[in-house]
Amino acid sequence: MVMGFNEFIAEVLEFNPKADKELIKKAFEFSESAHKEHKRESGDPYFIHPLETARILIKLSADSATICAALLHDCIEEGCSTVEEIKKIFGAEIASIVEGLTKIQGIQFESKEDYKAENLRKMLLATTKDIRVMLIKLADRLHNMRTLKYFREDKQKRIAKETLEIFAPIAHKLGMNAMKGELEDLSLKYLEPEAYSMLRKRIASNRREREERTKAFIKHIKDGLNERGIEAVVEGRAKYFYSIYQKMKKEGKDFNEIYDLIAIRIITKTVPECYAAIGIVHDLFKPIPGRFKDYISVPKTNGYQSLHTSVLGEHGRIIEIQIRTQEMHHIAEEGVAAHWRYKGTEKDKKFDRRIRWIKQLLDWKMDSKTTKDFIEDLKIDLFENEIIVFTPKGDPISLPEGSTPVDFAYEVHTNIGLHCSKAEVNGVIVPLDYKLRNGDIVYIVTRDNAKPSRNWLSFVKTPKAKSKIRSELGISPDMRVEESAGEKKDAAAGSIEILSKKAPLKFSKCCSPKHGDPVIAFYTKDGKITVHNKDCKSLHDLAGNKTADVRWKEKERESKRLRIVVRDSVGVLAGILDIIAKAGISIHSIYTRAKKDKVVVTINMATMDDDAVKSVIKAIRSIKDVLDIRETSGMPDSER
Ligand code: MN
Repeated sequence: MVMGFNEFIAEVLEFNPKADKELIKKAFEFSESAHKEHKRESGDPYFIHPLETARILIKLSADSATICAALLHDCIEEGCSTVEEIKKIFGAEIASIVEGLTKIQGIQFESKEDYKAENLRKMLLATTKDIRVMLIKLADRLHNMRTLKYFREDKQKRIAKETLEIFAPIAHKLGMNAMKGELEDLSLKYLEPEAYSMLRKRIASNRREREERTKAFIKHIKDGLNERGIEAVVEGRAKYFYSIYQKMKKEGKDFNEIYDLIAIRIITKTVPECYAAIGIVHDLFKPIPGRFKDYISVPKTNGYQSLHTSVLGEHGRIIEIQIRTQEMHHIAEEGVAAHWRYKGTEKDKKFDRRIRWIKQLLDWKMDSKTTKDFIEDLKIDLFENEIIVFTPKGDPISLPEGSTPVDFAYEVHTNIGLHCSKAEVNGVIVPLDYKLRNGDIVYIVTRDNAKPSRNWLSFVKTPKAKSKIRSELGISPDMRVEESAGEKKDAAAGSIEILSKKAPLKFSKCCSPKHGDPVIAFYTKDGKITVHNKDCKSLHDLAGNKTADVRWKEKERESKRLRIVVRDSVGVLAGILDIIAKAGISIHSIYTRAKKDKVVVTINMATMDDDAVKSVIKAIRSIKDVLDIRETSGMPDSER
């Protein structure tokens, strides 16, 4: 049975009390009668599809125009109406969304690369004009995935693959976690049916035991929060099949190792309570070093905000904990769509910021590029994990994992990229191909006469850096660039020390040793020192040569630690973290330990900048409840 209008509008009003009932009724009836003759693959009336597409959006508190456009989204495609007619009846706004959807309708990505790129480009263009086009497209895809079982097997696989490769990553980029999770799980079901049913079975098999354990942890945390007067929702959270599957594949881990993790979410009323809660959690359980992440002061580019930590529970079990406010929670689950709930309008600046990546992608001189490059760039942009690094002023810059200072330079400004000559990370000079890590503070030294080097193309990661370097050097996109061993050698020779007789240093091409590898060095006949990995296969050729004594230079310690004693009061930790965040310093870890009515807070900060640390200390000292603060080299992370 198809849902009737009364039931439908009641659902709309539940999520959006201000919805335009009359207009929605018109769209409902128009679509129902337009699709009267059509059937779905399942044999159901076709109207079920636009109806369900609209219902997915209703639950995101969609505005009236979006609901109407969702109801009408297949009308033109199916030949039962025209843009002009829809414009006349429903107005220009709805007509332009429906038109945008029609243009990207029926796009299939399976065929030739060129066709694929062209279609993607069209879809992204339509989205930059109005993000609602993409939101409806995603809802449309989700409903098709939910009803995929009625399709032929080859079609199922094609649609599932396309969903996994294109639509789930787009949902991720838009911050729509729930949408992404369901799209991925449904794709897995059709692409890897065996893996999917294995996961299903195993998850079901020890459900009760796991739920018991989770319940106990939740109670423990809840009691701790209540004792300090924090009211919060504490809940276990289900993990998506696909994310478990991916972790098993990527990390080569067993199901139990991954699924055994207990995942807890704490939802507080205010931001300061988030910080207070993390202090309490770290007090109740031993935090695992390096796992604390503060996405509240430095949100991800898709808008996601939360505090993350992992702690050690009973029997050495790891508990993953996310802490966020209710609003952050909605944004985490619904992404851009959460703005309907909070701003009630699509004309929001944040909306624009969220789709900036699409605009950037389209900006990178796409017409001059080959199709292969476009797909490649899109993949990098959609699939790579991102890291966040900082300018010396503390502005966060997001880059794909594996990015280098050169990528950073181009990301900040093309001119900085073009004239980049040296890079400092956390105050230490590093080679330009250095792999940046989360929280690094990057300073680029520019020189007027510095120019991009061909060699850069062998290590830069971002499409932007690649295309700018290419165009500056006049290299066409399909020319392959070989790694230049010469420049590599210089970069590594920034980092090794010769203890025996000095001679020019060169790194062997056969095994190209990296910093920290066990190495052996020889004097060569031409009076140089050549450095090889200890297990290099060509060593026996060098057996007669005299060995040279070398060792890697120690990398500087890359963090500073503060030990702060505070009076136990709500908000004091938040105040401290706020000062550090404002100084542009990211935090490796935080530990808190209660001592009667005092709390000792130990914070490891990712910085080597003494001046910055001094001013942070000064600012923290002026907080009312801070009793003592000093920089310390104290105990290692794991001891409390
Ligand atoms: Mn459709």
